[in-house]
Amino acid sequence: MNVLVINAGSSSLKYQLLNPDTGELLAKGLCERIGIDGKFTYKPQLPGKEKLDAADVAMPTHSEAIKAVLDALVDPVNGVVASMKEIDAVGHRVVHGGEKFAASVVINDDVMRAIEECNPLAPLHNPANIIGIKACQALMPGVPMVAVFDTAFHQTMPPVAYTYALPYEYYEKDKVRRYGFHGTSHKYVAQRAADMLGKPIENLKLISCHLGNGSSVTAINGGKSVDTSMGFTPLAGVPMGTRSGDLDAGILEYLMNKYGMNITEMLTVLNKKSGVQGVSGVSSDFRDLGSAAAQGNKRAELAIDMFNYGVKKYIGAYAAAMGGVDAIIFTAGVGENDANQRMAIASGLEFMGVKMDEDANKVRGEERVISAADSKVKVLLIPTNEELMIAMDTASLVK
Ligand code: AMP
Repeated sequence: MNVLVINAGSSSLKYQLLNPDTGELLAKGLCERIGIDGKFTYKPQLPGKEKLDAADVAMPTHSEAIKAVLDALVDPVNGVVASMKEIDAVGHRVVHGGEKFAASVVINDDVMRAIEECNPLAPLHNPANIIGIKACQALMPGVPMVAVFDTAFHQTMPPVAYTYALPYEYYEKDKVRRYGFHGTSHKYVAQRAADMLGKPIENLKLISCHLGNGSSVTAINGGKSVDTSMGFTPLAGVPMGTRSGDLDAGILEYLMNKYGMNITEMLTVLNKKSGVQGVSGVSSDFRDLGSAAAQGNKRAELAIDMFNYGVKKYIGAYAAAMGGVDAIIFTAGVGENDANQRMAIASGLEFMGVKMDEDANKVRGEERVISAADSKVKVLLIPTNEELMIAMDTASLVK
């Protein structure tokens, strides 16, 4: 059985074609900078097949990105399957399942409607996920599709962590509560961390930092999510590529009155024009920010510093929440690739037993311990693998 896994984010789309029974990976790749200047990577894992690394690929939307993926997979020369018939199912990462979805589900018309109803909860993501599902359905009629939700892992949070200090009926009647996101990723890296440390996950207190275009930090006690930085929507928590993260809600009234904005316009500012993009005025991409900061751009430097400071504060908060921490995990685009940012976040935490190994930290995208041998708290670099978890869930549902 081959499962195509589609992970459509706000500006990037990761894909893998894999066999969930054997774990064999047939091909993987990445569409990056969607809506900017499209970069397409295709890495077939079969002998004799050549990879493709193309810049400036026209990808104004996610539809063109998925079309490029399917064309590459069935390409007569470098494809890994003879035709679409060899793709048995598609597993889609879907960001927000609200309270409707506590587990993965086979997609049908009712499920599509229910996912669409969750769009206001994740305005940057659910629409991209839906475009991904619809593009696949159009190109692959009859192939079963499964939705795997980012909110599921966080359903173990206790009320003290997920309840907002609002009139209680907003929770009871309207289900306004912290949901949390990136659940598949946090769950995967937590399990890998336990394997790397050679300890049962039940005995570990972990803080997982998923740092990418969207970022979240999660406290995982005994393998269960007990708190997480994103909230009712993925707008909360640390500053992100274009999202503000946590802020004083009083700012909304002040700015809306001053500039005559309605709530939709205000939320567009908070979701699409804020974060490191808003502060720097340069880019939402941390690579662009790093280059600008290196050339002396003070606002780019401030944006990076604010992001790192925000993550550091969550680490401190979650160590307090759990009464300690055994390991801190870095994952996702920034967490896996940017040694400077990992160092900036983890330095200054020596008081709580975190001691980095500067040389070990000079690495990208590789599972590795990056703290010093005598560090009380281990710091781990773990590339996330949401795709494998999604493929396994998909296979178990469609079989
Ligand atoms: P993600 O949302 O996980 O795909 O992460 C996207 C973010 O990771 C973007 O801001 C990228 O700039 C950042 N990123 C990806 N590769 C690198 C790298 N080599 N160095 C620094 N940041 C990177």
